[in-house]
Amino acid sequence: MPFINECAVEACSYNVGSACHALAITVGDPPHARCDTYFVTSFEGGDPAATGQVGACKMADCRHNSRLECQAPGIAVGPGREAADCLTYSPR
Ligand code: SF4
Ligand code: SF4
Repeated sequence: MPFINECAVEACSYNVGSACHALAITVGDPPHARCDTYFVTSFEGGDPAATGQVGACKMADCRHNSRLECQAPGIAVGPGREAADCLTYSPR
């Protein structure tokens, strides 16, 4: 699974130091490439020893997408149209 190389959404409960620690995020709520795992609550989530990875992606029109899985070597997440977007999204 591709690694999340950086995530600038520090308000997310899975984020520590601009790094995602969710074991597997889901991207997409077509037509928008948002991080669907983005969640704000009062405690930290994820595994602090792990680097987040992309578990599934619903953006079938992205050039990195094959069979609803991300094939990019890694992705970046940050604020875009919404609070947490896949910045590596690239429509075919
Ligand atoms: S990639 Fe998504 S789940 Fe991970 S820290 Fe960023 S917004 Fe949160
Ligand atoms: S790069 Fe494309 S296929 Fe990979 S997670 Fe982002 S939108 Fe999905």
